[in-house]
Amino acid sequence: MTDSRKVRNAALGIFSALFLILAPSRATAADGETAPARDPKQAIDEPYTAKIQKYTTAPYFTSPLVNYLPSSNTVPTPEAVLGDIAGAPGVLPYAEDVYKYMRMLEKASPRVKVFSIGTTEEGRDMIAVAVSSPENLKNLEENRARLAKLADPRTIKLDDAEADKLVAQAVPVYYITGTIHSPETGAPTALMELAYRLTVDESPYIREIRDGMITLITPVVEVDGRDRMVDIYRWHLAHPKDFYPPLIYWGKYVAHDNNRDAMGVTLKLTESVLNTYVGWKAQVLHDLHESVPYLYDNTVGDGPYNAWVDPILTDEWQMIGARNVADMTKFGMPGVFTHGDFDTWSPGYLMFIAAMHNGISRLYETFGNGGADTQERTLDPEEYSRTWFRQNPPLPKALWSQRDNNNYEQTGLLTSLHYFNENKRLFLKNFYVKAKRSVMKPAAEGPAAYVLPADEPRPGLQAELLRVLQKQAVEISRAKLAFTVSLPVKKEKPKKDTKDTKEADKEKKPEPTTRDFPAGSYIIRMDQPYARIADALLDHQYWSPEDPQKTPYDDTGWTFGELFGVQVVRVTDLKVLDVAMERVADVHAPGSVKGDGAVFVINNNAEPSLATLRYKMKDARMEAAEEPFEGGGKKFNRGSLVIRNASRADLDHAANDLGLQVVALGTAPSVKTHPVRAARVASVHTWLSTQTEGWWRLALDDLKIPYDYISTQTIAKIDDLNAKYDVILFPPVGYFPGPTAIINGMTTAWGNPLPWKNTPETPNLVGKNDSTDDMRPGLGWDGLAKLQTFVQKGGVLLTATDTSRFATEIGLVTSVSAHASERMKIVGSVVGTRLVDSASPIAYGYEEKVAAYCDNGPIFSLTSIAGARGRRRLGTESHTRATGRGTADDPDFTVGRPTTEAPEELTSEIWEAPPVTDEQRRNGFRVIPPANRARVIFRYADKKDLLISGLVEGGDEIAQHPAVVDVPAGKGHVVLFSINPVYRGETRGTYSMVLNTILNFDSLDAGRKLAEK
Ligand SMILES: [Zn+2]
Repeated sequence: MTDSRKVRNAALGIFSALFLILAPSRATAADGETAPARDPKQAIDEPYTAKIQKYTTAPYFTSPLVNYLPSSNTVPTPEAVLGDIAGAPGVLPYAEDVYKYMRMLEKASPRVKVFSIGTTEEGRDMIAVAVSSPENLKNLEENRARLAKLADPRTIKLDDAEADKLVAQAVPVYYITGTIHSPETGAPTALMELAYRLTVDESPYIREIRDGMITLITPVVEVDGRDRMVDIYRWHLAHPKDFYPPLIYWGKYVAHDNNRDAMGVTLKLTESVLNTYVGWKAQVLHDLHESVPYLYDNTVGDGPYNAWVDPILTDEWQMIGARNVADMTKFGMPGVFTHGDFDTWSPGYLMFIAAMHNGISRLYETFGNGGADTQERTLDPEEYSRTWFRQNPPLPKALWSQRDNNNYEQTGLLTSLHYFNENKRLFLKNFYVKAKRSVMKPAAEGPAAYVLPADEPRPGLQAELLRVLQKQAVEISRAKLAFTVSLPVKKEKPKKDTKDTKEADKEKKPEPTTRDFPAGSYIIRMDQPYARIADALLDHQYWSPEDPQKTPYDDTGWTFGELFGVQVVRVTDLKVLDVAMERVADVHAPGSVKGDGAVFVINNNAEPSLATLRYKMKDARMEAAEEPFEGGGKKFNRGSLVIRNASRADLDHAANDLGLQVVALGTAPSVKTHPVRAARVASVHTWLSTQTEGWWRLALDDLKIPYDYISTQTIAKIDDLNAKYDVILFPPVGYFPGPTAIINGMTTAWGNPLPWKNTPETPNLVGKNDSTDDMRPGLGWDGLAKLQTFVQKGGVLLTATDTSRFATEIGLVTSVSAHASERMKIVGSVVGTRLVDSASPIAYGYEEKVAAYCDNGPIFSLTSIAGARGRRRLGTESHTRATGRGTADDPDFTVGRPTTEAPEELTSEIWEAPPVTDEQRRNGFRVIPPANRARVIFRYADKKDLLISGLVEGGDEIAQHPAVVDVPAGKGHVVLFSINPVYRGETRGTYSMVLNTILNFDSLDAGRKLAEK
């Protein structure tokens, strides 16, 4: 802090003190509501209060709720742990210090209880702190039982009168979560002080909250990331003149995307918060963020709203949001608003756990400085402009402190808690009604159930999908017998042409069809309290290109059945609910060895567990069949595994573990095979961003596939990459800043090194990830040469989305170009792809149609001419004949000479390279020999079949273009993905495209047919 700032702060302190004296002291205002004011009979903590005034940079950046601290003889203030007050400049506590304080509160007061709610990927604790009256905390279980009945209305037979009795008695739970986003640093101290206030303040306003409800607080959600962020901040304080390293890792796997995991529930933090929310039967989940000045309660946000939420919830958003803004505006706090550009479509956000489980989701964006420095902050015009929804906008420029941020966070929360408490009977009743409407869903809007058939060819992936639903607290049942349901009649679009309409009338009206399901099929009944989340995950999404919202905030499609590659049938026929079924506690795909013989075969249906098996049974000899075959009375797909040298007992154990059906045969099938070896894998990250590649690491770890995790810098340092690795995965960086950014990294032309390593100031930085002395250098030209040599000598390099653009633009491949879209909008959607080359090992186990995740490409085009810029093509150009004699199909003539017929024009499909012409072959040194040309494995579907879920606008730009391409380069291969096959734990159906590449790394040319010329 500079001297001038100190002077200014002191002046502001006096101003704030005046404000304090003038604050109203009556408990009840004339409007009949309890006034937000301190209890004049309760002493305040004078030194603490003085510091609050000192660190608050302007009198209007605080409120009568937080501009003082009540004193207590028995309960320690946050100063006991922080050494200063909450929000003090220069003070950022580690999670364990926050916990230490919460446990001090628990020890000092019967109004506080601390619960462990889980551990992180790196083994750190997660906690939840309950603050309420001693009586409420004593009766937690009794109260939980009441809330549980409201949460599951089946337990009271949907009896509204009974519900009313429970509503009258129950104490609601309001769950607040802090700092899921590690550079958003203010919440922990705000929540420490909030917990203190709720514990000791005797003002009627706070007492009502304490006695009337249970406030549950998880002060740090991303605990691993918090400790890293505090490290960085400490490094910054120790090197005040230097630039400090950006927080490249938050949690072990992902950064900002930790707030996009509430669908897949792959991260520990999601699971812990979900279990806590559902376990406590909480009514609200309120998540704290810091990226918008000064308090954007983005709960109301903007449309489109998620289609599966109950409108009762969206009304609750409006009520709470509007009141929140009103209360804070009355305090004179600028920049509080609730509408904005955040659409509430995706259910991936942590807070949305509540929206999908009959509660109320809320999210604050307050204003943080990414640390605890007090700084002058200048806003963009769009941030400070006055709009219809922000009549009292933030200031264009202001000195801003962590204390200001803490004031806003606490004031917003306290007014919310108070308003919620005043209206708790309404909200508790709504909680019940939303649950009841979930239970009544089958007969109301439907569907009645989703069915996952027992004859699913991918039982392992099916089990994975069902386990996600179980994590979401969805009940899963299994049919005891085979059953049949009727499927709805598909409405045909009326045809415009009158003649056609007449024809159509003559055609038979489509009959209702039925579908049979075998015994053992999984049924997800929609007459259960948490039907909503199952419906949202399994249904299809449609985002209209005409939607007024032109900038979707996140993904627009996610249909889990499609992305997992398993059958999910939406059933509206209510009879499905009468099928004899039993609840399933643990979903497990059965697996074993059947038959006799020493040769074992496993059918390949693109189940990721095949790769797990390969690495698990290191010493077994495994081969892949290059053609389909029959054996033991069963049919086996291309790519099926033939295993020798394996102990039957080991294999049986592994098969049971992994849900694989193994068939033992007396003799090996007479089919061409190639070895499937456990490739040595490296997964490469940049020091620019590790967010998107983190999902790849998570998938590999989950599948127990060993790999070295190395940076682009490390590549340059390895003399012989081929001696160490067979396959180098280069997952997406997450954005494409141009091809040379990966090579150059961040500039080293100025500034100081940005170390990412453990030092005395940064003991937590590295964790289980990577380290470097300086994050700035990139791959370098040496590194690029190493990568090129690796491929030329026989290695396999696999890239996806932006790294595919890198590989094409930097020249690691010829024959494929990658372009950004010009007008297409595919915003995190599920799209259709089509299998082009089923003989390629990359396609093993896949069927003709595969759903994939696409986020606007890139758009691949092929060429057979080296150095020719592959032109993106937008469909066949029309070559109509020139004006002349005859009909449209006739040959023209030239007067005075015999007619010469033009040669047949060579045609090709969009996903293919245009054929080489005779003209190009004249001295054709640039013609790429057939063996060196790219091999398209999957392509995007035709335009009309492209959209499966989400938003696809201008899809003709990418329709039919290659989606997965295998490009030979020297003795090796570069495998390019336009789709992202490994993403947020949601795309398990496409994992095997990557795993197939790994397992067949030295046989990728299997089944390849070369062009003749
Ligand atoms: Zn955030």
